[in-house]
Parts: sequence; C-alpha cells; structure tokens
Amino acid sequence: MEIADLVASKVLDVPDFPKPGVLFKDLMPLFADGPAFAAAIDAIIAEQGADSFDVVAGIEARGFVIAAAVAYATGKGVVPIRKAGKLPRKTVAATYALEYGEATLEVHADAFIAGERVLVVDDVLATGGTAAATLGLVEEAGGTVSGFSVLLELAFLEGRTKLAGRPIHALLTV
Ligand code: IMP
Repeated sequence: MEIADLVASKVLDVPDFPKPGVLFKDLMPLFADGPAFAAAIDAIIAEQGADSFDVVAGIEARGFVIAAAVAYATGKGVVPIRKAGKLPRKTVAATYALEYGEATLEVHADAFIAGERVLVVDDVLATGGTAAATLGLVEEAGGTVSGFSVLLELAFLEGRTKLAGRPIHALLTV
C-alpha cells in the first residue's frame, strides 16, 4: 500500500475536538499499529535522507514519539521542542498566535552545536503557526533546519504560507 493510503487508513476524524466546530484528525491508530508506524517512520527517513540531518527535533507531544523513532532508526539524537516552562535550563523561546490567544514554545539554548543540521518532525501541519515558531526557534538556537516532516498536512488551512521557502514534507496531504 502507498504510504499516503496507509496513513489515511489510520486517521480517525473526531468532530468538535478540542472545541465545537473543529474536526480533529486523530493519528493514534497509526502510532498504535506497529507495521504502519514503522512504515511511516521509514518513509520520513527515505524522504529526508538519513545523511541529511545530524539530530531530530520533535514538537511536544506527539512529535516526540516520531522524533524518537526517526532518531533511533538513524543513530541520531533527539531534541525536544517544549511548551513553556517545562525545560529546566536556559531556553530560547518563541511566542506565536493561536486562533484565540497565544502559545510559547522553548528549546534549550545549548541544544544545538552551531550549524548542526536539524530535522524537525511533528504529527500534523495545520495553520502552520507551531511549525513556523519551531523552525525559527531551532535557528535562533544555532541549528540549521535541514527539513520538516509531518505525517499529515491539512492543506486547506494553508500552513505552508507561513513556511515559505522551507522544505516541508507530508506523508499525507488532505
Ligand atoms: P498549527 O500550529 O495550527 O499548524 O497546529 C499544529 C499543531 O497542533 C501540531 O503540533 C499538531 O500536533 C496540533 N494539531 C492541530 N490540529 C491537529 C489535528 O487535527 N490533529 C492532531 N493534531 C493537531
């Protein structure tokens, strides 16, 4: 089966989550299926190229799961991009707008060696605010973004417009 079809077969639509009117795409069935999860991780590595990055950054929380698997399979390390207040040492932070209010993401200020090539991963690209903040954060912390991979891109939310010129890859785009 094509990877896009496999991902599509493992996404559940959840109406009105986390609030009324939102159709949440739940990728937990993909994470829970061993062969499907392995195929998704392998497809990310094949698309990016195992030699194209030095470390994998995952966006809290589902991005951690993907980042750990990609890192383990390629012999690289993992750097967590966390919500505000979770990291114990000096951080670099980025605040970005949500539909209502704002959110802040952080990374340890010493997370990257200068120029280190960083593959950023997450489960879903929606409006692109999270991704744009993260890619800026990685670079502010001294890393070089080598690529950005997601399992699922919600193209109708036009997240790519916030990521102009960035190398973005999605296993499935809807
Ligand atoms: P964005 O900032 O609007 O692109 O939202 C992306 C972030 O929110 C990612 O970290 C996703 O994990 C999460 N997210 C947004 N929409 C969904 C969804 O439908 N399913 C799962 N996660 C989502």
